[in-house]
Parts: sequence; C-alpha cells; structure tokens
Amino acid sequence: MRRRFAAFAALAAGLLLAGCAAAVDPPPAPDVLTSKLGLSNLHAIRGSRVVLVDAGSRSDLARLDAELARVGIAWKDVSALIVTHAHSDHAGLAAEIRRRSGAPIMLGRGDAPMARAGRHDDLQPTNFTAAVLKRFVIDPTFEAFEPDVLVDAEQRLDRFGVAGRVVPMPGHTPGSLVIELDDGRSFVGDMILGGYLGGALWPGRAGEHYFHADRQRNLDNIHTLLRGRTRLFYLGHGGPVTRESVADAFGAGAPAPR
Ligand SMILES: [Zn+2]
Repeated sequence: MRRRFAAFAALAAGLLLAGCAAAVDPPPAPDVLTSKLGLSNLHAIRGSRVVLVDAGSRSDLARLDAELARVGIAWKDVSALIVTHAHSDHAGLAAEIRRRSGAPIMLGRGDAPMARAGRHDDLQPTNFTAAVLKRFVIDPTFEAFEPDVLVDAEQRLDRFGVAGRVVPMPGHTPGSLVIELDDGRSFVGDMILGGYLGGALWPGRAGEHYFHADRQRNLDNIHTLLRGRTRLFYLGHGGPVTRESVADAFGAGAPAPR
C-alpha cells in the first residue's frame, strides 16, 4: 500500500512539474495595430509594453489621439517610438509623441541630419506619379527633433517589451530602419509600397515605392529579407503584404512594372 502511494506521489509530482514547464512558455506574439493616418500608417506593436512605429505627418495629431483611444493605448503605455525614416509623413509627430509619452525616439543615424533640420532631403522620384506627388502633395517640413537613440547597428527591443530587433537597412533613405519581430512579421517603412495611390487601391499588392535615395540598395534589402524568415511585411503606405506578394514583385531582381 505504501509503495503504491509513493508511486502515485511521484506521478503527481511529475505532472505538477510538467505543468510548471508549460507555464514558462515564451510570451504570446505581440498584437499589431495599424492606424491609417492622413498620408501614412502608424503601427503599434503591443507586447508587454507598446512600441510605436512611425509618427505620421504633423497634421495627424487629432487622428492619432482618436486612433490610440480606439485601440485602448494610453501615452504612458508607450515605451519607444521607432521612426523608420525621417520623411515628413513618417517623422511628423515624433517630437509631440515624445513630449506626451516620455518615450525615447529611435532613428537611423543616417537620417539624423533630416530630423535635426525638420525637413527631408530632396526626394528622388522612381516614376512619373512620384514626380507629380513630389511637386504638389508632399510638404517636406516637420517639427525638428534630436533622436534619443541613433541606430547604426542591430539592437534587440526586449527592453521595450517587444520580442524583436531593429536593423539598419539604408536604401529608401540613408538611415532607414526595419523592425523584425521574432515571429516573422517585419515593419519596413517605405522599402515597399502596398497597392496604388498610396495604398488606396489593392493595398495588399507589393510594389515599388515612389522615391528611393538608393534604389539598388533598397532592392538588395528586399532580397535580404526574402532570404530571411519574414512572412508578413507591414508598410508605411498600404499593406500588409505577404512574402509571396513581395517575391512576385521583386523576386526576379527587378521592381514590378507599374
Ligand atoms: Zn518615405
């Protein structure tokens, strides 16, 4: 009888230990919430804290407030703002977001001169539509800011509550950044455009963005990501787009004709 009890106790202890092991599984994949602002997307990555990706245009503040309230994010929840690049429709509210949240701004080192000037460099159009946009639609100015973290090498984001890393991938601009989550989702800013007319039509179809400082280097970055494990690409305009859609548009080594 005593021996049977000992066997039972050992079994129970084993089951208990197995339960404990299950309880220390990795944390669940973070939520990704995308807000479509006036010209561009702002993404909130909600892990144990919230990392914001990009900061809209300077006219987007009321819309941003409403969007964060809609998804239940308070300014105090925000642990970092990563600006994928310092174009006016991605860096517009960076200074204001830092004032409200107290969170540091991370920016690629190569884009720091644009952030400090509050004005982006002359854009290099990749097609006719882009030339028209540049001339009539895009205001190059935004509130200047000094980045808190200048990124010039890969960094983990765990200290901000998100399982992933930020990686410099210059091409669209000299300091462009990509955020790669450990679960295979990446945020690539304007490396890729989703759909047509800034994402208004077919936002899930990958294509070439209107402007690149270094078009070939940008394409090389896309190929680097396609060789990695990214399965879903979140974009600055339109998107998200699947790996298959990106491979269709860029896999042969040339941008898709538009
Ligand atoms: Zn851009």
